[in-house]
Amino acid sequence: MMIKESANKFLLASGEGPLYRELNGQEIGDEGKVCPLTHHNRLVLNRYFDYTVPSAFGKNTATIGLGDRLGIASPGHIEAIKNRDVKPILGQQSIRELTLTKRTMEDMIDTATFAVFQEGYKDGFGIDADHIKKEEDIKRSLELGVTMLTLDCSDYIQKDVESASKKQVQDEFAKLDVKLKKYYLNTYSNQVFSLKTRKIAVNEIDVMRNVLIYGKAVAYMIHVFNTYVRHLDRDFDFEISIDETEAITSPEAHFFVANELRKSQVEVTSLAPRFCGEFQKGIDYIGDIDQFEKELSEHVDIAKHFGYKLSIHSGSDKFSVFPIISKHTERILHIKTAGTSWLEALRVIANKNPSLYRKIHAYAEKNVEQALKYYHITPNFEAITPLEDTKDSMLSEYLNDDNARQLLHITYGLILTANRNESSLFKDEIYSMLSENEDVYREYLIKHIGKHVETLDL
Ligand SMILES: [Zn+2]
Repeated sequence: MMIKESANKFLLASGEGPLYRELNGQEIGDEGKVCPLTHHNRLVLNRYFDYTVPSAFGKNTATIGLGDRLGIASPGHIEAIKNRDVKPILGQQSIRELTLTKRTMEDMIDTATFAVFQEGYKDGFGIDADHIKKEEDIKRSLELGVTMLTLDCSDYIQKDVESASKKQVQDEFAKLDVKLKKYYLNTYSNQVFSLKTRKIAVNEIDVMRNVLIYGKAVAYMIHVFNTYVRHLDRDFDFEISIDETEAITSPEAHFFVANELRKSQVEVTSLAPRFCGEFQKGIDYIGDIDQFEKELSEHVDIAKHFGYKLSIHSGSDKFSVFPIISKHTERILHIKTAGTSWLEALRVIANKNPSLYRKIHAYAEKNVEQALKYYHITPNFEAITPLEDTKDSMLSEYLNDDNARQLLHITYGLILTANRNESSLFKDEIYSMLSENEDVYREYLIKHIGKHVETLDL
């Protein structure tokens, strides 16, 4: 069983036999052994309790990514989605997020596993190596047992083609290999592709543009699938992400990428396009909702045509478009959330420890410039009410203000790794605060993530 003593959790084991012997810990007389939540002990749990091993969910089950920057949110996440028509991807961090918080992928898998054990949750969970770019990271995360890979192809997606003139596009396309040019033009140019409820018509210049923008990215996707995923001897969720780019993914471009992948027999579980409007972190959708609905329905049709799930990145807090997403995807989708659970942690701190909250908030304001280079957001920081004008009892209102939410969202790495004289400025205090208020954090997450699955009708 899982036990907690002051801020620390342990496994308490008793009895004899191989499970007992394999767990590392300290024997306490005849009563058993107290075992810390180490990587070794996690692997032991995996060997004896099948439900603690992560699994893949495939193309026909809705999944929700529940990124947990702190490694303590999973119990609340599990409770929020329990008995719903959606499976949780409890571990979901990109290399960027792990680096910014000085955590490792092992740690991410360990904390998710211990949460599953603590909750006695037996309905299955996944682990996503999120926004992976480099082959060495792909290799390593597969060795560690992730069940999902989100391949970030943004380094291979050609920029500036979107805005290039027709002439420039033609000139660039002309430089390609003769056979390749012929293949692309024969396959796509002036063709009409029939989906279930609509047709996709592609003209010559679209073909050229899409080849120039996505050609290298598609080659990389095929390479990664063939090298690392195709021969895996276990079920696996392979997600393609083309969302972290300037260019909004047009239906023709989505079709082009998907069709090329199918021709190479790449098994895609989900694909994340870049939608119109803005999916900024931790706040509602910004943009024309009617336009979004129109384009979403086109993307859903393409995904259905090719038989994979549409994936919605930066999906947290997009409450105004959740009903639309639910309606068109018919509740078979993947949706990612992460930073919003960090913001709920800060809500706990705002309510329970105003002075710590004030220090964190001031630090975020002072250092936000540094964080802005990692995230594309457009808040108005000037509009945030000054701290000195806010009473303690009103601090948690910052977590209801979009500008402050974005400020606190993107500065998590700076806040968690800030040091003074070799000791952490906030991190230790944040963890001990949240440990003391474990039930409060859990309640907030159940409510907030619960609102997501509720609005998505999952
Ligand atoms: Zn993304």
